[in-house]
Amino acid sequence: MMNAPPISDASLRDFVVWAVMTLGGRIEDTERGWVFAFDEDTHRLSFDGPIDPSDLARRPDLVRLLAQRLARCETLPCAVPRTDIQRVSEFASHLYQPYHVDGGTVRLAGCTLENRFFFRVTNIDASDASVSLSHEWFDAEGNRVEPELQSVLGLEALVCPPRPIPRQAIPRPPKQLGRGDAGDTDTESDVVVAAVAVKWASGKLEFVHESRSVFLEFAGWAQALRRDPGLLPPYVCPETGQQGYDLLRTATGELTVREAVGRCAVSGEWHLLTNLGTCVVSGLQVARELLEVCPISQELLLPQEFTRCQMCGEPVSPLVIAGGRCRACRQMESVEGDDPRIATIVQAFPEARTLGRWKMAETDTTLIAIGTRWWGEWLFVVDRSSQALRRLARRKRWQRRWQPVQGDWPTTE
Ligand SMILES: [Zn+2]
Repeated sequence: MMNAPPISDASLRDFVVWAVMTLGGRIEDTERGWVFAFDEDTHRLSFDGPIDPSDLARRPDLVRLLAQRLARCETLPCAVPRTDIQRVSEFASHLYQPYHVDGGTVRLAGCTLENRFFFRVTNIDASDASVSLSHEWFDAEGNRVEPELQSVLGLEALVCPPRPIPRQAIPRPPKQLGRGDAGDTDTESDVVVAAVAVKWASGKLEFVHESRSVFLEFAGWAQALRRDPGLLPPYVCPETGQQGYDLLRTATGELTVREAVGRCAVSGEWHLLTNLGTCVVSGLQVARELLEVCPISQELLLPQEFTRCQMCGEPVSPLVIAGGRCRACRQMESVEGDDPRIATIVQAFPEARTLGRWKMAETDTTLIAIGTRWWGEWLFVVDRSSQALRRLARRKRWQRRWQPVQGDWPTTE
């Protein structure tokens, strides 16, 4: 038993295991320590007996030999983070976690894992009696990897790739990292450069409710998405721009997030916020299709909230009524005798040519006109799109109330 060996750090142990496996060997963990076994003569390493894995820091001979052999490899040695995933099946179920479809399901509509490469540069500081390592990590352009990303990617603990990475896929490291062209055997053996393949996931989730489905694209570091599915993006409603993770089906068939819908106070059904409106009279939020527009104020109202103007007889918002009359009827303006709208009325009612001193007002839907004769006034309410007469009434000089005229233009006065 060796006395008080320095505690070998996990990094050194990981490095030795990785190096041996990269060189095609294996380590047998026996009661007496690690025994290295190599199948191929080219990498045969011989040591005098098993090695205590806790004593690696006192074996500079071993570590330097491994480094020299790695430097002689034709292709850059490869590594992957121990925490990384290698197959979609390892994390597919995690991808569903943040989402919920009311009465429906979430499924993966496709996902690919691609290798994105980083580089680990290992500096070996060896004396006759001891050895220590330090690692640095760089991206494909040779920029140092920020500590936060190192941690996200698990770069501190690398292992051999479970499946060989095709040689042509392994990038050359930037020159400044200490090993240029692969196979350059003159490289300083106390620096070991490894290509680190990290899995980048990109794919599509499908949210399904009966015959309806919508898709969401996602991308990210695969292991990070497995650790924290909260990194997955929310679904963004294309109609409202609202986003969230909880989806439901609206009354009109859209599958979207809860943030994008509201309940119709009349039917109790879910509708897109863009399909909802508020009745200005009752204050109820209801399906937009249930609301009608006031032809004077353009406000939205439930049909039962409309009030008829006592003068023109048109249904309007009660908010534009005062003294029983709508705003149009209260604010009629005198028009010139050659106003073309008079001609329109005269065309429908030739007798109207005997009237004078015309006053008019228009709403979105009607033309309201008053013509005067010596004995009193005539009121015409004409549909602006069809030119049809919607109301005809008259009153004598001394009358306040309009008397509706039924049927044809009366020939007697
Ligand atoms: Zn009116």
